Amino acid sequence: MASTADRSHTTPLNQPSVQRSDDARGYYVPGANIVDPAAPTGPIEERWEQRKFDNRLVNPANRRKLSVIIVGTGLAGGAAAATLGEAGYQVKSFCYQDSPRRAHSIAAQGGINAAKNYKEDGDSVFRLFYDTIKGGDYRSRESNVHRLAEVSVNIIDQCVAQGVPFAREYGGLLDNRSFGGVQVSRTFYARGQTGQQLLIGAYQALERQVAAGTVETFTRHEMLELIVVDGRARGIVARDLVTGEIETHLADAVVLASGGYGNVFFLSTNAMGSNVTATWRAHRKGAYMANPCYTQIHPTCIPVSGEHQSKLTLMSESLRNDGRIWVPKKKDDCDKDPRDIPEEDRDYYLERIYPSFGNLVPRDIASRAAKYVCDEGRGVGPVVGDFRRGVYLDFADAIGRLGEPAIREKYGNLFDMYERITGENPYEVPMRIYPAVHYVMGGLWVDYHLQSNIPGLFVTGEANFSDHGANRLGASALMQGLADGYFVLPNTIREYLADGPFARIDETSPAVAEARTAVEGRIQKFLSIGGTRSADSFHRELGNIMWEYCGMERTEEGLRKAIDMIRELKAAFWSDLKVLGTADSLNQSLEKAGRVADFIELGELMCIDALNRRESCGGHFRAESQTEDGEALRHDEEFAYVAAWEWAGEDGQPVLHKEDLIYTAIEMKQRSYK
Ligand SMILES: Cc1cc2nc3c(=O)[nH]c(=O)nc-3n(C[C@H](O)[C@H](O)[C@H](O)COP(=O)(O)OP(=O)(O)OC[C@H]3O[C@@H](n4cnc5c(N)ncnc54)[C@H](O)[C@@H]3O)c2cc1C
Repeated sequence: MASTADRSHTTPLNQPSVQRSDDARGYYVPGANIVDPAAPTGPIEERWEQRKFDNRLVNPANRRKLSVIIVGTGLAGGAAAATLGEAGYQVKSFCYQDSPRRAHSIAAQGGINAAKNYKEDGDSVFRLFYDTIKGGDYRSRESNVHRLAEVSVNIIDQCVAQGVPFAREYGGLLDNRSFGGVQVSRTFYARGQTGQQLLIGAYQALERQVAAGTVETFTRHEMLELIVVDGRARGIVARDLVTGEIETHLADAVVLASGGYGNVFFLSTNAMGSNVTATWRAHRKGAYMANPCYTQIHPTCIPVSGEHQSKLTLMSESLRNDGRIWVPKKKDDCDKDPRDIPEEDRDYYLERIYPSFGNLVPRDIASRAAKYVCDEGRGVGPVVGDFRRGVYLDFADAIGRLGEPAIREKYGNLFDMYERITGENPYEVPMRIYPAVHYVMGGLWVDYHLQSNIPGLFVTGEANFSDHGANRLGASALMQGLADGYFVLPNTIREYLADGPFARIDETSPAVAEARTAVEGRIQKFLSIGGTRSADSFHRELGNIMWEYCGMERTEEGLRKAIDMIRELKAAFWSDLKVLGTADSLNQSLEKAGRVADFIELGELMCIDALNRRESCGGHFRAESQTEDGEALRHDEEFAYVAAWEWAGEDGQPVLHKEDLIYTAIEMKQRSYK
């Protein structure tokens, strides 16, 4: 492990950065620097404990009089709703699915990290903290990440108490496996269905509160606007997706736990419904959007097979524990049956380039390496577009070593899924995989209390700009979602709610009426354009632009081109959109239109953010900034900051506020997994 500073140190190890380059000049307006107003001080390992103590309490009788809206029932929102309900607040919980249990979190496969050190392999809270900061390429906040590592151990205890069936070893202890970017085994799992089991745990805790009368659930409701009264978040406007009715819901605070926006790329591993509307609407109401260009491309997904696909499927990173990744050394071998290619003609390129971490390098590094070998013409599988997009993930060694039953036991459902989709049996033939969009590290800016810059608006889980910096390590999203929902938010939102009771508002308050009218007007606008193209066709086109120019590799020229193309697409959308049906019934093309309109605006901001950041860090790879051997090259002296973007109106240019990232416990280093 690279050296760290004195752990109790509070003296800055780096200076605020000073940006010299200005690639995005003309596309944005520089704004004032910001600081995290809730940032803690003191020795890093005492900050969270101290803050929990310092934050004011709300007595149980007063909690009953305070209300909180939570948008989202995934791990972040479900856990928060259950916990705040248990504490006695009045909670309204929203999701657009027909059950809270269908939130995208249910798709999570591989596992959840925690610094339990059950394997006695050298893990600790500090090591999880260190790995996460390094994995994120030194672009996350130290205090938040340390808190995450501390809380990780509580999550496992909580979930075990709920009855989550984590995998166990023969002796009965909880089992662990490894994920990318680390050299210890700290990932807890429930076969390849970890998200599903964790979500059932959160859901039953939520339903208990529904029965107790503290939580009211609103399924098939989509939040379409944030209500801000006198500068504070006080409610939402939502559409009942079945009846089409527009409803206003008011509360003392609003929590957005609405997930990530990876579907801006059209093709991704995310659930088809995942979208940016909740956070983008809040952004347009003044909430800063932070680091929007930080996207995670996951190396192990089933490759794209043709032009009419609308979904990509993840093969969990856990498979890299036992699967070995390779391509043929010779281009001529690429269309051979892989079983006929002898060992000496195979290039296990991750093991070759990164001997210390091998197949378990972080996702950004594994993805780029796969792209490079395919770009060289050594990809495998069918030619899609103009080249073969695939590398092998081979279990022959592991099956030989451990036997097929052991592999089936660990990964059976993933292997079955692969076979159902591709028609190939991965116990016999190596899987083919290729990188795909999977997760976003960007999201709404929040302070240490998970509060956005709009007082009373809190953001949790993948929806906030998160603790993962420029690259998230595997199995850390579930950890963050549950940390936020079960442990962090309940302890920070009380500091805000302790200011209650808040001014009374009702549906006639001007800001409330205005938000509702805006939603109604927008819906009518979608229905009245009367053009020729479906929202889906605009979405697909946007996705192509984003993947081509703001995907795995980004260049100044490409990003400028993308911004122009997205602006043209936006103009076409608002003049040529066709939405069938009416507003007063179930209308999925109307739902889609709203989501695509927001994706288009987000896409433009992502490109501006990527254009401004003329460095490579984590998932953000600017071709202009790489080491001699093609690794990401950061420029800490210019870019060690969080980019927090402010909406400046339809015709305005986004305003860039910078929050300096200052480290006291870990020295910033060039990342190496060799
Ligand atoms: C295939 C796959 C596998 C993964 N595996 C892992 C893994 O093994 N380990 C790991 O750590 N991470 C994994 N991840 C990442 C992880 O699953 C997600 O980051 C995490 O589940 C996000 O949880 P969340 O609670 O923030 O949001 P989500 O689970 O996405 O929930 C969002 C909620 O918000 C609601 N919502 C959104 N917008 C609105 C709106 N406008 N109005 C009303 N409701 C709204 C939705 O209905 C939903 O209830 C995986 C991701 C994918 C795609």
